[in-house]
Amino acid sequence: KGPDPDLVAISQRMSSVKHVILVLSGKGGVGKSTFAAQLSFALAGMDKQVGLLDIDICGPSIPKMLGLEGQEIHQSNLGWSPVYVEDNLGVMSIGFMLPDPDEAVIWRGPRKNGLIKQFLKDVYWADLDFLVVDAPPGTSDEHISIAQYLKVANVAGAIVVTTPQEVSIIDVRKEISFCKKVGIPVLGVVENMSGLQLPVRDLVFRKSSDDGQEDEDVTREVMLKLETLAPELLSTLACAQVFYVSGGGAQEMARQMRVPFLGRVPLDPRLSRAAEQGKSCFEDSPSPSGLALKGIIKRLL
Ligand code: ADP
Repeated sequence: KGPDPDLVAISQRMSSVKHVILVLSGKGGVGKSTFAAQLSFALAGMDKQVGLLDIDICGPSIPKMLGLEGQEIHQSNLGWSPVYVEDNLGVMSIGFMLPDPDEAVIWRGPRKNGLIKQFLKDVYWADLDFLVVDAPPGTSDEHISIAQYLKVANVAGAIVVTTPQEVSIIDVRKEISFCKKVGIPVLGVVENMSGLQLPVRDLVFRKSSDDGQEDEDVTREVMLKLETLAPELLSTLACAQVFYVSGGGAQEMARQMRVPFLGRVPLDPRLSRAAEQGKSCFEDSPSPSGLALKGIIKRLL
């Protein structure tokens, strides 16, 4: 029996990719796609040639997160062309192929596997420093296929995104065991939405009225009092405080499973806004999530 023609084709395509990074999660809704999108923006911002491949077939959110809604894929004699955000950031997603973004994609395993294979075989990425792959959550049949197909690629490893809650962490353990079983190195674990960072100037203090009906905004009053009574306290607090929703669950789990812990990203309205608007969170003034993500990416490279 000769070599598998699909693997030969994938191997040819992937020969122009220096590093494949998989972004995984045990559950949906933990911020996996957000992380994959911002990682791609960050790498592109470092003048790397970046591809972002969205194979989260049941919930393709990457087009929106990159500001590419309504775009379509074009074919050329070299293959399917990604949609470009910038010259050095190309994106491919099942989302580009669906006529109605509100329509549910209900596909059985073999059809999903077929499409994942086709993405890996047929997309013309040209030369890439990094191909970031936004994988479906959990450990399904598709993951086994992805692991098989990517055996012929330069897989740097997987980043596993979780929230701090125990229920999410249990699933991450499964994800890490899966990676170990199929021989994908775990680059590290990211704890997302792990706390809340509140710059004091953004705080609003309210005093309840006697009948509890209407709250009065006393922010100015409180700030003035603080300024006179404890100016030092105010300047310390002004640096923003991080409140961790739970106590370092992901870090402890990473230690137990002997994989690197890459860091925490706080809950941050500016990150969800950037994701909604399809923008990089590194563009404007430094945000709590942007700083955290930068630290994580630095640790990664
Ligand atoms: P997943 O890919 O794991 O299903 P998403 O990346 O789609 O999750 O994120 C789910 C939602 O949570 C999105 O609306 C996203 O904007 C928001 N989100 C993710 N991370 C954060 C964060 N650190 N702070 C605030 N909102 C976040």
